[in-house]
Amino acid sequence: MAFCFGVGMRFLCPHCQASTLGLQAKLGAALWGIVRCPDCQKRCCAQPLVLGALYFLLVWDILLFGYVSFVNYKTHDPITSAVYLSVMVAGVAILGFFAAYVPLVAMRSDTD
Ligand SMILES: [Zn+2]
Repeated sequence: MAFCFGVGMRFLCPHCQASTLGLQAKLGAALWGIVRCPDCQKRCCAQPLVLGALYFLLVWDILLFGYVSFVNYKTHDPITSAVYLSVMVAGVAILGFFAAYVPLVAMRSDTD
């Protein structure tokens, strides 16, 4: 995955190795989307095993810290509840940041 920082952030297409994919396409791939290269018209997606592990951690973060925050709120401890809620939000932000770095892979079948 080669890219340069700035407005013109581009990512390599795994098919033609050209820097044709923009940040919006990359983030769309991180949401389990299929990206079509504007140059070679072939399809690619984020590496599904890495993306699955990332989403597993995301669900784990929300369930664990969200539940602990809820329990602390119900036991009239709003400060501790807010701390755990902050940890949950920070975890979602960190995992969202790493979602942009999941490598793109080529999709072999191109039926349409
Ligand atoms: Zn391409």
